[in-house]
This record gives sequence, C-alpha cells and structure tokens, in this order.
Amino acid sequence: GTVHLPTLINSVLETLDMRLKERNMTVTVSNPDNVGNITGDFDQLTQVAQNLVDNAIKYGRENTAIDVVLKKHVSEFPIHEESVSIAITNRGNGIPAEHIPRLMERFYRVDTARSRSLGGTGLGLAIVKHIIQRHKGHILFESEVNEYTRVTVTLPYKSG
Ligand code: ATP
Ligand code: MG
Repeated sequence: GTVHLPTLINSVLETLDMRLKERNMTVTVSNPDNVGNITGDFDQLTQVAQNLVDNAIKYGRENTAIDVVLKKHVSEFPIHEESVSIAITNRGNGIPAEHIPRLMERFYRVDTARSRSLGGTGLGLAIVKHIIQRHKGHILFESEVNEYTRVTVTLPYKSG
C-alpha cells in the first residue's frame, strides 16, 4: 500500500505521548525534503517506528529531546534508485561498539539487569529487522557512549 510517513510518525508519537511526558522528553520531527508517501505496509512500518521510538524513550536520558529526521536519497549508479531514510536520535548512555552487531538478535540486551528492570522482552529489534527485510530496506546503528544513539532505517521509495 501507500504509506504517508509524516502521518505514520505523528500517530506513533501520539501513542507514546504519555511515556514521553513521564520522562520529560520531547520529539522534534524534521522533513527537509518533504518526504511523503512510500510503498509499504502501514501497520508493519508503524511497528518499526513504534519500537524504535520506544527504545529512544526507554534508553534515552530524561529531560532530553529525541530527533526524528526524514530524508530522501537518489542514487544514479548503477541504476536510478530512490530511497527514504528515517533517523531517530536520542541522547543517553549509548551502546558500546562491541554490542552493536548483536542488537537485533532475539532476546539480546546490552545491560541485562537494567533492561529487565525497564521492562520488555528483547524482541523489539528482532521484529524490526524482520519487517525491514520484508521491505528490502536497511538499518544502521551509530552510537557514542554517554552521548547518543542514532538508528537509521532506509527504505526503497517503491518496494513493489
Ligand atoms: P522490547 O523491545 O521487547 O520491549 P528491548 O527494548 O530490551 O525489549 P530491543 O528493542 O530488541 O529490546 O533492544 C535490544 C537492546 O538494544 C536493548 O535491551 C538495549 O540494551 C539496546 N538498545 C536498543 N535501542 C537502544 C537505544 N536507543 N539506546 C541504547 N540502547 C539501546
Ligand atoms: Mg525495545
């Protein structure tokens, strides 16, 4: 189907509004390229955004802002291809580099005790990985300890 990304992001943020308020966190959404529709499954992509923003709230630092940036990319070689990226950045403890390759494994959690006390099962990113694969997309984790974590999902503009 056709998915209007700004609408999808806004509905996810509405769903998570209480949790954002509990942690005194805010979200900025920027969309400089005016990214609109992509081809994909609205419910599945909602689950992706929901999981990633949930993580940004859960593992982010209180009283900080989460940034969501939508961008459009065009590559000309070897073929003309358009894609859209969604980058979600939170301030916080970050993720030590050695953990990054394993984050999307089922039940993998960086700090087991702390993660358990925060709730959840460690399945969020495994589900995200599965959905992104089905959409022929990519996911990239960047982090600096005690600074930030940024998760960037790139999806083909048209996956069909
Ligand atoms: P669930 O998503 O099932 O509620 P979870 O959040 O622990 O549980 P995932 O979403 O799969 O599971 O994330 C796996 C682990 O990756 C987390 O336990 C956490 O250690 C780490 N992680 C994920 N996102 C972030 C982030 N934004 N900042 C820091 N660590 C993160
Ligand atoms: Mg999670």
